[in-house]
Parts: sequence; structure tokens; C-alpha cells
Amino acid sequence: MRAFLFANPAAHSRSPAMHNAAFRHAGLDAHYEARQVLPEALADAVAGLRQADVLGANLSLPHKEAALPLMDALTPAARAIGAVNTVIHRDGVLTGDNTDAPGFLEALRTAGDDAHGTALVLGAGGAARAAVWALRSQGREVLVLNRTYDKAIALTRDLGGVAVPPAGPVGWERVALLVNASSAGLDAPHESPLPDLPRLAPEALVYDMVYKPAETRLMRDARAAGYRAENGLGMLAQQARLAFQAWTARDVPITVFLDALARPVRPEGTE
Ligand code: NDP
Repeated sequence: MRAFLFANPAAHSRSPAMHNAAFRHAGLDAHYEARQVLPEALADAVAGLRQADVLGANLSLPHKEAALPLMDALTPAARAIGAVNTVIHRDGVLTGDNTDAPGFLEALRTAGDDAHGTALVLGAGGAARAAVWALRSQGREVLVLNRTYDKAIALTRDLGGVAVPPAGPVGWERVALLVNASSAGLDAPHESPLPDLPRLAPEALVYDMVYKPAETRLMRDARAAGYRAENGLGMLAQQARLAFQAWTARDVPITVFLDALARPVRPEGTE
């Protein structure tokens, strides 16, 4: 059996390490391969997933939105968020799912979030859409703050929550969960989406979806101010575990995925 990642670029993805470790753990004769797929080749690559020995695929940048019309069916999460990160193949039928959203909630739960209290999401791209949809499904008050205000307005119009104007008052003291779903801090240890971290609710959790570097400036600032802080590795592992479950109907412990992420990347970057 086979499963794939379609992305551009794809070479440095950690998904092959996670899924091949999970296949081994489950004793399944299957292989996961990352393929660089250019936007104009996505339709053909997706059509190839209908072959009998294919379990499905993950989609990453820049394909998560473009894949929607190529699916035979969509899960409610994928339809509402407007992004597919997991394609499930069964008997020639391709179902588009979004495991980023439930994977994010599972990672929050593991990090000690109690699923209550006001959440503030930084960013308004694909990751923010998954986060807002997930948090709204918990019935929480959700604020969205993005560098480009119009995108925050469009996101909240689609998914609920309240867009916060960048220069306006936020009410930071009631924020029990701060989520960085922007790319600020990615590969930039000194960059923060909030260079002056405001005072949050006591015991607040700061969840940074960025996982490279493992400790971002936002996380450092949060810990220095006495808040809990986690990086995005938990979410990365949880979304993979949920995709694996959907493809194989097998559950593999999250530690298998986390351990694969903890191993150093091989020099050729393909793991
Ligand atoms: P998008 O490109 O769709 O969105 C990027 C967002 O970041 C936009 O809202 C953009 O604002 C904002 N942004 C970019 N640079 C800055 C900056 N310097 N300061 C403030 N805001 C900035 O990306 P995604 O939504 O797909 O991904 C966002 C992040 O989440 C990435 O770092 C990605 O690696 C991470 N991620 C982690 C996952 C995990 O499993 N842990 C899963 C998915 C994503 P604007 O609208 O103004 O351009």
C-alpha cells in the first residue's frame, strides 16, 4: 500500500518519517513518500490517488485550498475551513478531510488547555482558519488579530469569531489562550508576531503553531512572563496520527509520531 505527500517544496517534510514509523509500528506493508507537485500538476497527481493500492495523501502548501474541487466528497471540517490536508481513498472515491483542526484541539488538550475561556488567534491564513473553526466548535469566544485586517474580517465572516483591528483595543487580560497561527517567527528566532507581549489572563496558555525553531521568541517571552507555552510539534504529530487512522483504521500511539519528529533529519532531507 502507498500514501503520499503532495507539496511544493516537499523535500524537507517530516511527514515521511512520521508515517513510515507508524506503518512499521502497525506492522503494515506500506510506504509513504513525499512528492514535489507543482500547482499545474495537482489535478493529475490527485487523479493518481484512485489506484487500488493507494491509501490516500496529505496535502501541504500550496495545495490545501486548490484541492477542494478535485475531491468527490468533503468532510464538514474540510468544507467549512475551505482546506484539505488529508485525502482518503476508498474504492475509487476521494474524500477530502482536514485533520489540522482536530489535531490542533488534541494538541491543545495535551498542553493543558481546558477548552474554556477566550482565545485569540494571530493570523488569518489557512492555519488560522483551521484553528478558528476548531475553537468555535468548542463554543469559545474567539478573537482574530491579523497584520492585514481585511483578511481577519473575511475569516470571521466565514467562520465566526470577532476580528480585532490591529490598532484597536483587544482586552488582552481576558485571553486565556493565545495562538500564533501566523508565519511570524518561522525560521526567525528573534521575530515575534507580538514584539511586546501584553498581559494575558493568569495561567494563560500560549500555543505557537510554528515548530522551527523549537522555541520561538513568542514562547520565550510567554515563559518569561510566567505563562505556559508550547510549540506546534504536537499539532503536527496529531494531524498525522488522525490522517493515519483515516487511511488504515488503525490507531498508533502519538509517541511513535513524536519520536519520529524528534529524530534528526537525514542529510539528504528526505528522511
Ligand atoms: P499562510 O501563508 O496561509 O498565512 C500566513 C499568515 O501569517 C497570514 O495571516 C500573514 O498575514 C501572517 N504573517 C506572515 N508573516 C507575518 C509577520 N512577519 N508578522 C505578522 N503576521 C505575519 O500560512 P499558513 O496559515 O498555512 O501557516 C501559518 C503558520 O502555521 C506557518 O508558520 C506554518 O508553518 C504553521 N503551521 C503549523 C502547523 C502544525 O501542524 N504545527 C500546521 C499548519 C501550519 P497577512 O494576512 O497580513 O499576510
